[in-house]
Amino acid sequence: MHKPYSASFLAAEQVAQALKPDLPITLVRNAAARRAARFFRTQFKGKTLYAVKANPSPALLNELWSAGITHFDVASITEVRLVRQTLPDATLCFMHPVKSPESIQEAYSVHGVRSFSLDTFDELAKIAAATNHATDLNLLVRLRVSSDHSKLSLAAKFGAAPEETPALLLATRQLADSLGICFHVGSQAMSPQAYKDALRKAGKAIVKAAVTVDIIDVGGGFPSIYPGMEAPNLQCYFDVIHEEFEALPISYSAELWCEPGRALCAEYASVIVRVEQRRGDALYINDGAYGSLFDAAHVGWRYPVKLLRESNVKPAAFSFYGPTCDDMDYMTGPFELPADIVAGDYIEIGMLGAYGSAMRTDFNGFMSGINVEVGDEPMLTLYGSDNETTASGNIVASI
Ligand SMILES: *Cc1c(COP(=O)(O)O)cnc(C)c1O
Repeated sequence: MHKPYSASFLAAEQVAQALKPDLPITLVRNAAARRAARFFRTQFKGKTLYAVKANPSPALLNELWSAGITHFDVASITEVRLVRQTLPDATLCFMHPVKSPESIQEAYSVHGVRSFSLDTFDELAKIAAATNHATDLNLLVRLRVSSDHSKLSLAAKFGAAPEETPALLLATRQLADSLGICFHVGSQAMSPQAYKDALRKAGKAIVKAAVTVDIIDVGGGFPSIYPGMEAPNLQCYFDVIHEEFEALPISYSAELWCEPGRALCAEYASVIVRVEQRRGDALYINDGAYGSLFDAAHVGWRYPVKLLRESNVKPAAFSFYGPTCDDMDYMTGPFELPADIVAGDYIEIGMLGAYGSAMRTDFNGFMSGINVEVGDEPMLTLYGSDNETTASGNIVASI
């Protein structure tokens, strides 16, 4: 950094102009995080747990808390400690189906965690032992469900198979104060059908096991908005979930939970990068696969981009190379930017609040931890201007 800055910049363009940063800068938009949280809090008829892995920034945790998110889905003891330290009164749910005994024990006895997920008998026994056979546990059995409607699969690694689920539900019922069922349909689920199919599967498992279920947790997977990836309105997802939940054979007082990561924080942050060199239609920028663009490199994710200066030149399609010496540090895009872009130009890359900064490394020495708060709108939004929706649904493009 060459120049000092004060906290209250208005917009991305002004940040680039004032700071002329030689490292990538993360722009954070607190209002966007609060708006997403308010949407879930008011429209989802149940509890919303924020999935901390999507972005564990304490500043973000505080914003979500201030907008009424009180429950947090944590997956490691480090996340447990972080949230407990940041938000002493938060309710933490340890939703990783394979935990170490030490982490279960510390979560239970030091940090007051009472909710745990599992998908095997081994894990059930481990939780019982590590909590000294506690009788105040909420135990959620994770089902294996399809990721067919999602851009990023979570189907292979976790989840009890249908043939083993009834016995596992019965065994878990014996040890649980509250018994739950959870699943994850995969990240960026492009159709509400994913939740419908999964909830029907849960219904079948409940009938087969003939157990009383107290919690239905539909997990994460709620889509955000990216170029070429516009999913239906979030309200459509909620409507399907509410309808299927009502039809389940569960106790009348059963709770409905969800665990959004991406949908709560994608709009929270973007990154300003500098073009260090142009070679034809490839731009060599100072952030990449080992920085906040992991998904752009490895899954071909296309984030929205914007040149941070005036240009009347028509857009052209570009690809990006990141700053490390590795060939894999390549983002194919295509990213549409004015054809006259040159070295020294700044680009804003949007929608990086989820799985962007969370996955940065300092490989090759290109880590930058600089955050600047801005007051402008995110480049794309699911939520319109504070719960208003537009004629075209819930999609408001500001580029
Ligand atoms: C990653 C994860 C989430 C959040 O998923 P999104 O697709 O970001 O909404 C929720 N629950 C569990 C168990 C997860 O592993």
